[in-house]
Amino acid sequence: MAKLDWSNLNFGYIKTDYNVRCYYRDDAWGELEVHDSDKIELHMAATCLHYGQEAFEGLKAFMGEDGKIRIFRMDENAKRMQSSADGILMAKVPSELFQKAVIKAVELNRDYVPPYGSGAALYIRPLLIGTGAQVGVKPASEYLFMVFVTPVGPYFKEGFKPTPVVIMREFDRAAPQGTGNLKVGGNYAAGMRSGIKAHSEGYSAVLYLDSKEKKYIDECGPANFFGIKNNQYITPESKSILPSITNKSLKVIAEDMGLEVISRRVPYEELETFNEVGMCGTAAVISPIARIDDADLNTSIIYSKDGKPGPVSEMLYRKLRDIQNGLEKDKYGWITVVE
Ligand SMILES: *Cc1c(COP(=O)(O)O)cnc(C)c1O
Repeated sequence: MAKLDWSNLNFGYIKTDYNVRCYYRDDAWGELEVHDSDKIELHMAATCLHYGQEAFEGLKAFMGEDGKIRIFRMDENAKRMQSSADGILMAKVPSELFQKAVIKAVELNRDYVPPYGSGAALYIRPLLIGTGAQVGVKPASEYLFMVFVTPVGPYFKEGFKPTPVVIMREFDRAAPQGTGNLKVGGNYAAGMRSGIKAHSEGYSAVLYLDSKEKKYIDECGPANFFGIKNNQYITPESKSILPSITNKSLKVIAEDMGLEVISRRVPYEELETFNEVGMCGTAAVISPIARIDDADLNTSIIYSKDGKPGPVSEMLYRKLRDIQNGLEKDKYGWITVVE
């Protein structure tokens, strides 16, 4: 096993031994290649550099107490990357190829899967870019799909703890009929300025309102939003939200726990009626929200007075983590075990 301080890793980049690549040329995907260099050679006129033909995914592999490595819902990531590719006219990676590449990248770097109990995981980053040279604005005819992995530390170094978020109406993340529902780099470029501003002011994320009317909740930077009240799990529905696989999974678990699951538009005014609110995504599973500040109206809604997460968020979080770590039976068929 690699000698790393597993519990103190951050969410940076650590080189592992291998990455996996596949090229799309002449209208067909080639063979999977294994590389040990983490550099790629790229044409300076590649469409990914000029016109943002780039989509990515993020998922994790976990070491269980039983010594088995578990990958969470990679078939869903495969589907989502296809929808991203479709959305910005890139070649689609067949689901089988996607999953084969992910498994291969994990198997080849098994020394970097953090040990059980460290709270750390192996982050898997599939990436699809337009590599064909093209100066006119049109889709490339050549693409590169690659998968690299890097160990990441526990999201909550001081335990599962709520943090504040902020509403700032001067920024939009995605246009109402734009690409907000695709996992493409362009959305991240659009959210960089607001995200960094929020961080520098002590917030963990921007809570975006819908870009058109600023009346409804969209999502939280790189995570979906949910609220809990009256035994209901409520999450916004909008064409500009990225469909989170964590959110999709939490909905299933919430329903199994006896909560009513509701996806609909969530008006701004409803925020103060929730007992618990949180963000969800692969990085943290759930990141409970302590407080929502409205930077424009100078108001605040406080959800956690004692610095502790709400009981429903805590239960949902534990349950999903236990499935990922193999402590809970995988009755939904979400886990791929790498032997
Ligand atoms: C990736 C992402 C999420 C979270 O999705 P998961 O599949 O749960 O990791 C949420 N919002 C945005 C904008 C994202 O890019």
